[in-house]
Amino acid sequence: MKKYIYLGTAAAILGVVISCATNPVTGKKTMAFVPNSEIFASSFSQYGAFLKENKVVTGTSDAKMVERVGAKIRAAAEKLLKSRGTADALEGYAWEYKLVENKEVNAWCMPGGKIVIYSGILPVTKDEAGLATVMGHEVAHALANHGQQRMSAGLAQQLGAGVAQAAVGSKSAETQALVMQAYGVGSQVGGMLPFSRSHESEADEIGLTLMAIAGYNPDASVPFWERMSAKSGGGAPAEILSTHPSDQTRISNLKRLIPKAKADAAKFGVTFK
Ligand SMILES: [Zn+2]
Repeated sequence: MKKYIYLGTAAAILGVVISCATNPVTGKKTMAFVPNSEIFASSFSQYGAFLKENKVVTGTSDAKMVERVGAKIRAAAEKLLKSRGTADALEGYAWEYKLVENKEVNAWCMPGGKIVIYSGILPVTKDEAGLATVMGHEVAHALANHGQQRMSAGLAQQLGAGVAQAAVGSKSAETQALVMQAYGVGSQVGGMLPFSRSHESEADEIGLTLMAIAGYNPDASVPFWERMSAKSGGGAPAEILSTHPSDQTRISNLKRLIPKAKADAAKFGVTFK
């Protein structure tokens, strides 16, 4: 409690607005230190810089698949939020879906719908439904403002540590570093902040619904996560490998949630055998 009062005071001195955001899918209230408008500005500039420093694959069948699955997941997110009356959460989104040449088994979606798939994950996703599992999961983290919450926590730590120059703004180096860390882009800035177990489970659940509405059978998520689990252990701490729920727990949760995802999709006229 003391910490919150202190944070409140520090934030007030710095003119930082502490506010709440609402998860547009679940309706849950979450802490938001940084407004989305500032996060998006920072996210878009970091994304642009990332694409300049990395080899973006274009025109191949894999690159086209990334575009195709991305567009379907986006449409699913738009339909889902519209049906929940929370479509305004997508305001300012500028969706992009890029494949980069990189051996890491990794993928992420930065705030505002900036998705990157690393070529190293394609042997694990195997097919479009596998890729839809990954994209659904990553887009779910973005929709649910999980990075926003981690950034808020990161900023809180800085403020708590008395770093008075932690000014919030799209040009602030601290904010930019936090955006990257919060969404797992992190290797350049010293490692990512892992998503919590509850964020991982929530991303799995929302992700299944997104992939199902997009027309991909959510049954495909189980063999995908099994392949992923066989792959984990060693290597870079990629967001997608931060399997906080133990692999077995995750897979049994998925099996429990698949019928609900299918029922959600049926409301949009998408049915599976
Ligand atoms: Zn995740």
